Amino acid sequence: MELHIRNITKTYSNGVKALGNINLTIPAGMFGLLGPNGAGKSTLMRTLATLQEPDEGSITLGNLDVLNQKEEVRQTLGYLPQEFGVYPKVSAEELLDYFAVLKGITNGASRKEVVESLLRQTNLWDKRKQQLGGYSGGMRQRFGVAVALLGNPKLLIVDEPTAGLDPAERVRFLNLLSELGENSVVILSTHIVEDVSELCTNMAIINKGRILLEAEPLQAVASLKGRIWRKLIDKQTLPQLEQEHKIISAKLLSGRTMVHIYSPEHPGGGFEPVEPDLEDVYFSTMTGNYTPALQQLKTEEANA
Ligand code: ADP
Repeated sequence: MELHIRNITKTYSNGVKALGNINLTIPAGMFGLLGPNGAGKSTLMRTLATLQEPDEGSITLGNLDVLNQKEEVRQTLGYLPQEFGVYPKVSAEELLDYFAVLKGITNGASRKEVVESLLRQTNLWDKRKQQLGGYSGGMRQRFGVAVALLGNPKLLIVDEPTAGLDPAERVRFLNLLSELGENSVVILSTHIVEDVSELCTNMAIINKGRILLEAEPLQAVASLKGRIWRKLIDKQTLPQLEQEHKIISAKLLSGRTMVHIYSPEHPGGGFEPVEPDLEDVYFSTMTGNYTPALQQLKTEEANA
């Protein structure tokens, strides 16, 4: 099962070009779509979830034509949107049972079984009688996953799920997602680099409606090895440093500023080498330094 996205474009009626010629091949497993706010992630997720039309392009999920076989796709789709409402006065068990009926699980005994198994999987079984209005953010998100998993979807779309969760809830939620996704396509859209580095075997970086990078996180990190350097500086010296180096990130650290720069050779000037991580891949891609790194690597390999 693979999801193929071909030449998808979308311009909203107010003139905002949210997606410009998106091409992606997404295999089974966890796929991270990483990008800042406004990059076009939700627009793409809603399009995949058959909730809005692109201007152009095609999408296939296995043998299904997603844009023209919406009903068939919806039968095998799980979608956890960024924001979803719940009925506050209803219990998790009641509402999940109700959604299961809507999903076509009409046999009472099998529905009971499905509902119990999903509530256990999402670790909500002990809280199943509690009204959803009293659920924490993390519990609500896990309930959303339970709903999205009804009917064993082949395509599961999770849009910005960890925004607003506290660290413990976030870990619990990521653990839940990590158990899915071996047989189905799971797309996790997020602006949080760690969500992708902890979970995803494949990823893409999107910005301003364009895919800047499609890669395996581990490979992308490895390709930056020996090219990322760091230095702790005073903030006032940042403009000067920007003139001299390709700065990919600058972060506050105990009142000072930690900069990471991209350089194939030792830059001198007190910089020390640092093991690259996915954040370096993300920021160097966003600042336009990653592609040269990859090209350079390929050239070096070709010459070796
Ligand atoms: P992300 O999910 O990455 O934050 P979105 O897909 O929500 O990005 O938005 C991409 C761009 O499209 C943004 O500039 C946003 O303001 C704009 N946008 C999103 N939805 C609409 C809409 N319904 N009408 C007009 N512009 C929109």
